Amino acid sequence: MVTGHTTEYLGNSRGTPRLVVGGAFDSGIFSVLVEEHRYFFSNCCKCWKYLSMLEKMEEFNVEKVIEEFDSLTKDAGRVQKETLQKILEENAGAEYLQKLGLNGRTDPESFKACVPLVTHQDLEPYIQRIADGDASPILTGKPIATISLSSGTTQGKPKFVPFNDELVESTMQIYRTSFAFRNREFPIGNGKALQFIYSSKQFKTKGGLTAGTATTNIYRTSQFKNTMKAIQSQCCSPDEIIFGPDFHQSLYCHLLCGLIYRDEVEFVCSTFAHSIVHAFRTFEQVWEELCTDIRDGVLTSRVTAPSIQTAMSKLLKPNPTLADLIYKKCSGLSNWYGLIPELFPHAKYVYGIMTGSMEPYLKKLRHYAGELPLLSADYGSSEGWIGANVNPRLPPESVTYAVLPDIGYFEFIPIRENSEDRTEATFLCAESEPVGLTEVKDGDEYEIIVTNFAGLYRYRLGDVLKVVGFHNSTPKLQFVCRRNLLLTINIDKNTERDLQLAVEEAGKLLLGEKLEVVDFTSHVDITADPGHYVIFWELSSEASEEILSDCCNCLDRSFVDAGYLSSRKVKTIGALELRIVRRGTFQKILDHYLGLGGAVSQFKTPRCVGPSNNTVLQILCGNVVKSYFSTAFG
Ligand code: AMP
Repeated sequence: MVTGHTTEYLGNSRGTPRLVVGGAFDSGIFSVLVEEHRYFFSNCCKCWKYLSMLEKMEEFNVEKVIEEFDSLTKDAGRVQKETLQKILEENAGAEYLQKLGLNGRTDPESFKACVPLVTHQDLEPYIQRIADGDASPILTGKPIATISLSSGTTQGKPKFVPFNDELVESTMQIYRTSFAFRNREFPIGNGKALQFIYSSKQFKTKGGLTAGTATTNIYRTSQFKNTMKAIQSQCCSPDEIIFGPDFHQSLYCHLLCGLIYRDEVEFVCSTFAHSIVHAFRTFEQVWEELCTDIRDGVLTSRVTAPSIQTAMSKLLKPNPTLADLIYKKCSGLSNWYGLIPELFPHAKYVYGIMTGSMEPYLKKLRHYAGELPLLSADYGSSEGWIGANVNPRLPPESVTYAVLPDIGYFEFIPIRENSEDRTEATFLCAESEPVGLTEVKDGDEYEIIVTNFAGLYRYRLGDVLKVVGFHNSTPKLQFVCRRNLLLTINIDKNTERDLQLAVEEAGKLLLGEKLEVVDFTSHVDITADPGHYVIFWELSSEASEEILSDCCNCLDRSFVDAGYLSSRKVKTIGALELRIVRRGTFQKILDHYLGLGGAVSQFKTPRCVGPSNNTVLQILCGNVVKSYFSTAFG
């Protein structure tokens, strides 16, 4: 029913008009009307013509969206003040803000003076009350009806965060913004997107609120579908596959749908690059089976979910010509190089988040993508979006995210003057005062603080970002790392980024052997004195003892943090240990997180497994096939 959706479609909840489409129609209302009346229209020839005409008008107006973004970012400072004012006005009745004594004030100075910086842990009791069914205004003026589960891969268990209509709205805004910039540089036609997206299991909290990953909550909204349509990014696969009960079956069918629609696929994407790499690694295993299904028009018996079977039966028809073509193309590839453009000849690019903890998958992604450009997607979190990639031509290694000044109020804690300085002081320094969005300095690193329309006030997201220039007056941010230290035993301090760089360096030794690190993680072993770092590697195939010993030494030497180096020299930290795990170990870890309610769409391999993350540690330790100790420091 249209009536149930009117507030969603008639403008966003912040009172600003939607900046969706050119032409006289809001695409949301338009799409709903079209869907509601399709049957009626399709039975009347005149109406059908009218419908086709309207559908053409639904085209997305790239220039208009870019113009809107430019006008927002030209005076980002003013927009930030207004945004804070709106957030505080809308949520003035929330218990959390009332207790802090703002007394209706909405200016940044009073806000900073009254509202403390908080972490997720500080908000947990409030969010728990919401999840338990307390419908009073706790964090937001309007009650929260849905909860998101953030991936929580670093902590070992998913965290609850509030989810509301305003988050849906800002998600659509960021999708449209980055699409506009992307489409100006890499225009696509009105085809389909091979999207490796998956829903998590949704469940009810104790208080009866729906809970699922943020991406799942988004995929379930009508706005998602409408926006995908408006930005020419409709998924090849039917909903039954996205919302299927089993990830492996959904992945298989995403691949199958992609092949069925191979001539229409305009780009290949997922939220995080990991899922794309995972999908094509799986393709290497199942491609012959996919060809058989296409040849016979019969779905493999490995897909057992009735909902998926029914949906696929509508799409899968015997097509020996297509099966032969795919078989021939796959057989002709050398080590699967350029697989994506070979399978999808009209694909213009590969799209997904490729920065941060996704960087280790870039090499493999490039291999599959061949000559196709890799375009890194936007920056945000389950808690809310932050910035869009408005320079899509930049390679993923140097991609930046321009902050949208009207989707939240952002502050930044300066981290260090000199990003090369990785000494102890840089992490232990007394914290500086946060600065505003337009006060950040080009070249400096900061921890981001988020205040948004979903009940977060001065919330430490835990990410470190570097300012790399400005788009008009809004900063462009480069993702550096998560702020929390991964590896530390005494005075040593290594972040996720340091680990990533060490693995990258040691991984170079495998190149000559045509081997690669499929995935990796780490652990601090303090069961013996002195403690030592343990790095777990899953490799694409077997490597010689000699090479692996060299890799182990190289890993040890690649942690250049002064605290680590000096501790290794005086042996207050023991020799680094490289443990090789069986093929499929990281798949088991992924399955474990899915069992906890996570979704592949949001999955990030935990880069450090602490003692509290017992199950994952057991999976890793139970699958070790070989282990090496470094001799790099004698
Ligand atoms: P989640 O809570 O599962 O939504 O994960 C959010 C986290 O993913 C962020 O806090 C970042 O650490 C990371 N992340 C999100 N977007 C990006 C990006 N574009 N580049 C690097 N890391 C990202």
